[in-house]
Amino acid sequence: METHFSKQQLKDKDNRSSEKILRKCVHCGFCNTTCPTFDLLGDELDGPRGRIYLIKDMIEKNKPANEKIVKHIDRCLSCYSCMTTCPSGVNYMHLIDHARMHIEKTYKRAFGDRFIRNLLSQIIPYPLRFKIVGMLIFLIKPVSFIFPKRIKEMIKLMPLSFPKRNLPKMKIYSVEKRKRAVARVALLTGCVQQAVSPQINEATIRLLNRHNIEVVVPKGIGCCGSLNYHLGKSDLAKETFKKNILIWHDEYLKNGLDAIISNTSGCGTTMKDYGFIFRWDDDLKKKAKKISELTKDIAEYLNDKVKLNFVEKTMKEKKYKIAYHSACSMQHGQKIHKEPINLIKKTGNIVFDIPNGHFCCGSAGTYNLLQSDIAKQLLKNKIENIKKIDPQFISTGNIGCITQISQGTKIPILHTVEIIDWYTGGPKPEILKRI
Ligand code: SF4
Ligand code: SF4
Repeated sequence: METHFSKQQLKDKDNRSSEKILRKCVHCGFCNTTCPTFDLLGDELDGPRGRIYLIKDMIEKNKPANEKIVKHIDRCLSCYSCMTTCPSGVNYMHLIDHARMHIEKTYKRAFGDRFIRNLLSQIIPYPLRFKIVGMLIFLIKPVSFIFPKRIKEMIKLMPLSFPKRNLPKMKIYSVEKRKRAVARVALLTGCVQQAVSPQINEATIRLLNRHNIEVVVPKGIGCCGSLNYHLGKSDLAKETFKKNILIWHDEYLKNGLDAIISNTSGCGTTMKDYGFIFRWDDDLKKKAKKISELTKDIAEYLNDKVKLNFVEKTMKEKKYKIAYHSACSMQHGQKIHKEPINLIKKTGNIVFDIPNGHFCCGSAGTYNLLQSDIAKQLLKNKIENIKKIDPQFISTGNIGCITQISQGTKIPILHTVEIIDWYTGGPKPEILKRI
């Protein structure tokens, strides 16, 4: 694609990166065929190619964002399905991130929109605040009909109770006494996940410890920062990124880390991008790059680095038909797809890909709250495709997808790590006791 940035404009680092990306696009439109919003809405401007034109026009001409641009950019899920399809290697992720920052700087959203986005930014990354709000919502749920649509959607998605933790909060989870640790990893315990599904982190820690891997959860690390980043609140997000990078890097230098494990693929995708985000920061760029290199999704790490010890007795138990839901951030953001399927297959169960599995379930961070109509349609399609498999349960590697999909079906849904934990000596997941 021809671009016309001035020399002055190209002094800006973000313009410079975006210009390079734009020049790779050859307008072929292949990306439109796998874009969920283009598929659903049929408008060129709701597909990647159309959005790329909108972004180019806005950034190249240094125009403030307007209602039309914001509408179509906001409708993008950041699912990156278009990046998997693009034959020219257009990094749409970095382009849309730039566009979101530009929108945040140049466009004043309506009061209601600003209010909701600020609310999400101030609640979701903080597990304690999230739980408090959850309890308040429990009280007001019976009168939720009096609230505006978006608030009603938030109330609906909020869990009614928060499960208790079984593992105590510790900085270091050591391997069994008398055993020697073969590796040492840091675990991102995340924000929402530790409040709504603490069993996922617990399964991860148990499983790693059982395979003689020490797990460290450094104090001060909570959210990965991606929520604010995708809301366009880049300054707020960068504060979190910076804090995380410094804490993990310090741990890496002082005590050694073989990997930083993420068991939420949405977070892992952002952590793997820290190096790019701080590429111009002389103080942080090397550290950020190191943290990105160390980051591994739990499925990727288990598949590539760990010789799993499966328990024969569990392997002989009933076999399940499992539908594997490949989260967008996993398959398109991190290009991890065969690894979790491979792991599940090792348990002896039968695992199927969901038809049209490249399409998003509608979760996409806060998308199901901010664009609920599109998200509901995507969820409906996803559930119809899951039903074609008729599975006994569903597995995935992202808490957002677990929350979203469970809104549309009663079929149990488990994080992949819970399955592997169970088959290597951990407890049988509670929800499987009913089937
Ligand atoms: S990120 Fe997803 S929704 Fe956005 S343009 Fe690409 S394919 Fe479409
Ligand atoms: S597939 Fe790639 S090159 Fe073709 S229009 Fe989409 S982004 Fe541009």
